[in-house]
Amino acid sequence: MLTITDFINILHRYYKSPMVQIYELEEHKIETWRELYLQETFKPLVNISPDASLFDAVYSLIKNKIHRLPVIDPISGNALYILTHKRILKFLQLFMSDMPKPAFMKQNLGALGIGTYDNIAFIHPDTPIIKALNVFVERRVSALPVVDESGKVVDIYSKFDVINLAAEKTYNNLDITVTQALQHRSQYFEGVVKCSRLELLETIVDRIVRAEVHRLVVVNDADSIVGIISLSDILQALILTPPGAKQKEPETE
Ligand code: AMP
Repeated sequence: MLTITDFINILHRYYKSPMVQIYELEEHKIETWRELYLQETFKPLVNISPDASLFDAVYSLIKNKIHRLPVIDPISGNALYILTHKRILKFLQLFMSDMPKPAFMKQNLGALGIGTYDNIAFIHPDTPIIKALNVFVERRVSALPVVDESGKVVDIYSKFDVINLAAEKTYNNLDITVTQALQHRSQYFEGVVKCSRLELLETIVDRIVRAEVHRLVVVNDADSIVGIISLSDILQALILTPPGAKQKEPETE
């Protein structure tokens, strides 16, 4: 897999200043990058067979802290599909809607404690992009809420937004601010999708699936950041550790 996280790692490793072109990005082969990267951390390709259960897929996504899981045919070795949290949650929402809902779906986020509420990584509108990329590398989070000087959440910069630097070939100047980098999407961006800790889990799941986003920013009445609830938190809570249930391990052959 070569993902946006690799692109971010490459920029983080080679960017010096707007005056120095990142020739490694354009000239290096993927193979070169893999060799350099593997020197530090050897990570075999995490994958799953088409016969595995949905539970095993969720377990693998969460335990390996990955966002893409290739489904590989064990005989031919062909990649058949790429599973993501978004696809799985949408499937559960569409096809399990006629099944009885567990009681905890009617509880609020505060009571369930799902999500992250300490040490939230965030940035400011004038944060240089290179600093935001450093936070992505150091904290391994998939998005950074953008908070203004009054503490209000005004935007969100996600790893997915970073791909725009490649699309527009603007990665040679990473000293631009987050606000400048986000200007391209102003026409279609519908705003940060938020929620409060008082909302029910079923409302949260419905909102995140409909908005087709990976996370909601949890805010208080003053619109200040309180936490983050991402699809990984939701799938972990719904499938791996449902409130009140015993933890299940995946079946081994
Ligand atoms: P994700 O990479 O978005 O699937 O999230 C992985 C974990 O990191 C989840 O438990 C999230 O609640 C948490 N998380 C996501 N974004 C942030 C952030 N900006 N600061 C702190 N934790 C976060």
